[in-house]
Amino acid sequence: MAKKIVSDLNVRGKKVLIRCDFNVPMKNGVITDDTRIRAALPTIKYVIENGGKAIVFSHLGRVKQASDIEKNDITPVSVRLAELIEKPVKFVNATRGAELEAAVAELKEGEILMFQNTRYEDFDVEADKEVKKESKNNPELGAYWASLGDVFVNDAFGTAHRAAASNVGIAANIAETAAGFLLEKEIKFIGGAVDTPVRPYIAILGGSKVSDKIGVIEALLDKADKVLIGGAMMFTFLKAQGKNIGASRCEDDKLELANELLAKANGKIVLPVDAVVNKAFEDVPGVVKSVDGFDNDDMGLDIGPKTLELFAKNLEGAKTVVWNGPMGVFEMENYNKGTIGVCELLANLKGASTIIGGGDSAAAAEQLGYADKVSHISTGGGASLEYLEGKELPGIACVDEK
Ligand code: ADP
Ligand code: MG
Repeated sequence: MAKKIVSDLNVRGKKVLIRCDFNVPMKNGVITDDTRIRAALPTIKYVIENGGKAIVFSHLGRVKQASDIEKNDITPVSVRLAELIEKPVKFVNATRGAELEAAVAELKEGEILMFQNTRYEDFDVEADKEVKKESKNNPELGAYWASLGDVFVNDAFGTAHRAAASNVGIAANIAETAAGFLLEKEIKFIGGAVDTPVRPYIAILGGSKVSDKIGVIEALLDKADKVLIGGAMMFTFLKAQGKNIGASRCEDDKLELANELLAKANGKIVLPVDAVVNKAFEDVPGVVKSVDGFDNDDMGLDIGPKTLELFAKNLEGAKTVVWNGPMGVFEMENYNKGTIGVCELLANLKGASTIIGGGDSAAAAEQLGYADKVSHISTGGGASLEYLEGKELPGIACVDEK
C-alpha cells in the first residue's frame, strides 16, 4: 500500500503542521551547512502555494540541561528559511502557550509560522530536570501540538526511527497525516529497495565496525544478490578467513560472527583482494598490497585498485545498488580513492537505482562531488540503517495510507 503524500492533501485554508528536519550543524549560533533547510523547501512551498497556513517546527541538537537551551536556539534557522524561501517567517520563541496559539490563530493562507526547538520540551526549566517529553513521546504534548493544526505533514526522515511527540504523537491526535516530499523520496528509494528491489540487487558495505552494522549485513545478505565489503569491517572478515591483517582495525570479538555470516552467505559476500596500507594512521601516501601479503605492522586504510575492478565486475548489469559505509578513511586524501572509485562506479551505472545511506557515506558522496550523480542520498544516518534492516520506522508507520 502507498503512503499519503502532502500533494494528496487539500491544504487550502488549513493549518498545516509540518515536522521538518532542521537539525543543522551550528557553530556559535551560525549555521555552517544549510542543506537540510534547502531540502525542506519543496514541501513548505507546496503547502503555502496551495493556500495552506504553514506551521513548521523541528528539533535541533539535544536539550538535556539548562546550558543546552541557548546553544540549541532554533531562531537562526527561521531567519535562513525566510531568506531561502523569500517570504517572511513569523518566529515564536516558545513551544507552547498563549503567544504561540495567538500567532497560529492570526496566520493567513500562504503564510509561514515557525516555533522554537521541539526538544526544549525535553527539559523542565523550573524543576531543572530532563523530562524528555518530546523525545519520549509524552501523550499530552503530542495532543497539544496536534490541537494547533488541521492536518499533519511529516517530512523528517532523520528522526523517523524514533517515536517522538512531534511525529507519532501528533499523528495519533490529528485527522490526517501525510509524508512530505523528502520523506516520500526515502520511502520510494530505501523502502523500494527493501520491499521490491529490481534485480540484480547489489549491496556495498563498508565503514568502521561490523558491530554497528550486524543487522544491516544480515538483512542485506538475505535480500541482495551480492554483498561487496570494504572499509575497516573488511579486516574482521579477512582475519576470520585466517589472513594476516597486520595492524589493521579489527573487532576480535566479532570473528566468530564474521565466520557465521560468511558461511550463511553462500558465496554472496565479495571481499577485497588488495588494500592500501600504511604503517600509521596518518595522511601520507600508502602502498598497495595484496590481502595475502600484509606485514605485521601494515595498517589497511583503503581498498586497492584490483578490488575496485572486482567490484566493477560484480556491479555490471545491476539494477538496484545500496551502499552504506565508506571504503576507506575517506577523510584523508591519500585514502579516499576506494570511496571515490565506488562513487564513480555508481555514477556510471546505466538504468540502475543507486542509493546511498548512512551519515558518513552521505557526507563522503557529497564532499567528493557525487551528490547529484546517484538516484538517492538518504538524509538520515541511523534512520536509513534501521530502514535498510527492514525495521518498521515509527515516523513512517504513523503516516496514513492513501
Ligand atoms: P556510515 O556513517 O556511513 O554508516 P560508518 O560510521 O560505519 O559509516 O564508518 C565511517 C568511518 O569509517 C569513517 O570515519 C572512515 O574513516 C572509517 N573507515 C573506513 N575504512 C577504514 C579503515 N580501513 N580503517 C579505519 N577506519 C576506516
Ligand atoms: Mg557514521
